[in-house]
Amino acid sequence: MKLADLSDAQLLESLNSLCGQSRAVLARLLAHLAEVEERRLHLEAACPSMFQFCVRRLGMSEDEACRRIHAARLARRFPGLLVRIERGDLTLSTIALLHDSLTEATYEELVEAVAGKTKAEVQALLAKRSPIPDVAAAITPLSETRHKVQFTASDALRKKLERAQDLMRHANAEGDLAVVVERALDLLLERLEKQRLGKTSRPRPSREQSDTARVSRATRRAVFERDGERCTFTDAEGHRCPAKSWLELDHVIPRARDGTNDVGNLRVRCRAHDALYAEQSFGREHVERKIREHRDPRQRGYAAESCGLAASGLVNMGFRRAEVQRALDTVSGRHRADDLSTIPVQTILREALAVLG
Ligand SMILES: [Zn+2]
Repeated sequence: MKLADLSDAQLLESLNSLCGQSRAVLARLLAHLAEVEERRLHLEAACPSMFQFCVRRLGMSEDEACRRIHAARLARRFPGLLVRIERGDLTLSTIALLHDSLTEATYEELVEAVAGKTKAEVQALLAKRSPIPDVAAAITPLSETRHKVQFTASDALRKKLERAQDLMRHANAEGDLAVVVERALDLLLERLEKQRLGKTSRPRPSREQSDTARVSRATRRAVFERDGERCTFTDAEGHRCPAKSWLELDHVIPRARDGTNDVGNLRVRCRAHDALYAEQSFGREHVERKIREHRDPRQRGYAAESCGLAASGLVNMGFRRAEVQRALDTVSGRHRADDLSTIPVQTILREALAVLG
């Protein structure tokens, strides 16, 4: 039977069963690797190490070979690991993290504690069990224009950083910490300059009109608060989507069908589920065309914001507002709108200065 002929339920069931099979195969594979190493068959096959054997003879990637060999050796010491892998309690990634902490004395308790956890959760758990001392704050130059910044963050700061990453995902898809910190400092400096130096507040950047812009701030806040700043998509069995980033406001009755901007007609959706709903409402083809035509209206919002910051900077430097606007128009014209939103304000400033100069 072709996959396309399966019903949704059959397709998901089949995928589930494949995942189960692949975990079972992985467990068997690790047991085989351990046995091959025990019998020294890799040496007889003219490979100096299990790693070489896995890469050259078995066609594994270097990465795959490393993780599997480590897991196989660990499973030889603790055969119970194989059952855990087959059950899906542990993955190769989480086993790799346990490598240094597993001993006969810690095995039972540790494996129980990490069962079913993600890599990040296991990292957090291990850090809690064996804390590492703080690092000293330092800025080390890496090259003429690049620097390494290091410091120890409190748990609260870490949470703030992650929250900022989530909230600005639209403009900083990779969640680059340098971008988050720079943006935060721009805002802090603007505020400090205003407080300490009495500088006038920057002109509000003119945002383009889009559906989200027309929803009032208060409504936005109410909907995000009601929905717990998390995607509200829930499947038939009641599992709710865990996404806390790429969040958007979605109209229950679409705007195109006269849906209102009232709190009752809005809900929080992650970008993926927003797109799914749009596809279901308007058809996949229509949505794909819209995306091609439009890229992302919010990106233009952020681009406007960067230009707004650059504009206030230039006005503060003494340029006249009209000439600043012309210079920024020239700079904007050189970049695609969605690129512009990811370019640091400093770069926009530099380019605008070159035009003004
Ligand atoms: Zn979602």
